[in-house]
Amino acid sequence: MPETAAAPASKKFSLQQYKTEVHVDWCPGCGDFGILSSIQQALFQLQLPPYKVAMISGIGCSGKTPHYIDTYGLHTLHGRALPVATGAKLANNQLTVVAVGGDGDGYGIGAGYFLNSGRRNIDMTYIVFNNGVYGLTKGQASPTLAKGLKTKSMPDPSIQEGINPIAVALGAGYTWIGRGYALDVKSLVSLIVQAINHKGTSFLDVFQTCPVYNDLRTKEWYAGEDIGRTRIRRLDADPTWNPVVADASSIEEIVEKKTRALHASYESGDNLAVGVFYSIDLPTYDDQLATKVPALKEHPLVDLPLYQRDVQPLFDELA
Ligand code: SF4
Repeated sequence: MPETAAAPASKKFSLQQYKTEVHVDWCPGCGDFGILSSIQQALFQLQLPPYKVAMISGIGCSGKTPHYIDTYGLHTLHGRALPVATGAKLANNQLTVVAVGGDGDGYGIGAGYFLNSGRRNIDMTYIVFNNGVYGLTKGQASPTLAKGLKTKSMPDPSIQEGINPIAVALGAGYTWIGRGYALDVKSLVSLIVQAINHKGTSFLDVFQTCPVYNDLRTKEWYAGEDIGRTRIRRLDADPTWNPVVADASSIEEIVEKKTRALHASYESGDNLAVGVFYSIDLPTYDDQLATKVPALKEHPLVDLPLYQRDVQPLFDELA
């Protein structure tokens, strides 16, 4: 990929180099635009070489994201962004891997992968475009739509509870957990930068507006036009908020930080908390693997010739 002269003097890569020429065909006003722009700006801020980034998506409107970001990318199967991202990172631990998908894709179809990616702690990032509906298939209720809500494409209000993704992520063991809002791009860029910088699996749920099918969670609703104040509550506006576990060996501190994050995640209705909920430094899966296969510290798996591994015992076992 050329390193063009368009980049600012202090930067090697320009913002434009993270964009493709593919026509973005999301509906006008879709919150996906804010998330796409935020990811591109975050990659630009971090100055990650585009050829060292892999964007992996599942199926849904948000599944098109890798088409619009000029890095490596794969548009995979429904709910399968995380296992493919896991494989990409294990094959090449020098890549920055970002998985993206919708709430139906990640919390419904791919729910098993969502849980198990949390406990594995591979060094990668997962961003979920959470709009409460399956937009690509005409707006059926997704796992995050709260009980009693009825969007315009539903015949009746939902009779199931919605899941709380932050609470699930806390239980699953994600080592960095955040939530953003698609239309607050400045804050979202900062959250994505922090998520990518985190060593371990970072999970970022993003409130996203779907103006076509979700006529309840509109930008006017988030802005709180009916109640005279925004419904978005920034966690970092609270001077006592500190989501970072200082002593990862302290069960007491972990429980205290998780409990506080859990309380914040259950704020609902007119107070929707956004920001960093939880962060802890724990050994990553990649690093633990490299202690078993020291060559991985120097070279990614994809560059290791097979002869460096003694595979004969495996063949013997299978004979
Ligand atoms: Fe966006 Fe909704 Fe249109 Fe999908 S259906 S592109 S989520 S506005």
